[in-house]
This record gives sequence, structure tokens and C-alpha cells, in this order.
Amino acid sequence: MSWYDVLKDAVNVAKRAGNVEIQQSLIDVQHQMLDMQQKMIALQEENDRLREESKHLNDENQRCNGIEHHETLSIVTRKNDNPKIPFCSNCWGLNGKEVRMVKKNYSVGGERLYCTSCTNSCRYSEFYSLGSV
Ligand SMILES: [Zn+2]
Repeated sequence: MSWYDVLKDAVNVAKRAGNVEIQQSLIDVQHQMLDMQQKMIALQEENDRLREESKHLNDENQRCNGIEHHETLSIVTRKNDNPKIPFCSNCWGLNGKEVRMVKKNYSVGGERLYCTSCTNSCRYSEFYSLGSV
């Protein structure tokens, strides 16, 4: 039996006993309980939303902490990747996207890593010099 049904029964008992004062007090308690229940539902919804937001922020924080920046290269890599995969530092910096750099061989400039999204590039030999390729 819910709290609402219990109070409803108590109101009916007070009504049958002819005690208007207790009847009114029970009705007031019923209204207060309904208000509290609505507030509790709103708090649960807010709590669910905040949990989801916190999870998203933790996931994002973990993802950012797993990235290595290389001062002399225009790429980023993941700390735990072995071998290292080059991602575009420009795309990472602008929107947090991991856009994999592709290796291209240019007639002038030789082998370069190239971002197909923003055209950022660097010499492949610089990436290779990281020693973990
Ligand atoms: Zn890019």
C-alpha cells in the first residue's frame, strides 16, 4: 500500500469519526507529500542528467589524458598505442577529433603525413624519428 493510500484511508477514518481537524491535517500532509514526491522526481531527473554529464566529462578527460603532444610535430599520438598512430594535431586541437594522418609520397618534399580533413602535414621522417613506429 502506498503512502497516498494510507493517508487516504486515514482521511476516511477521520471523516467517519467526524474529526474535521484531523481530517484537514491529513489532507494537508497529503498535499505536502505530493509536493515532496514531485520535487523528488525532479531531483532524480536532475541527478540522472548530472551523472550522465559527469560520465561524459570523465570519458573526455580520460581521452585527453591519453594523448601525447609533440612540440616539433604537427601530429598527436595516443600514449598507449604501440606502434604509434599519427593523428592530426590541428583537428585534435580544434574539435578533439582523432583524424588519422595518411602517408603520401610527394615528388617534391618526399614522404609526408597528410590530414585528409584539414590538409595539415609533416614530414614522415619526423614522425618516424619518434622511434615507436
Ligand atoms: Zn587535420
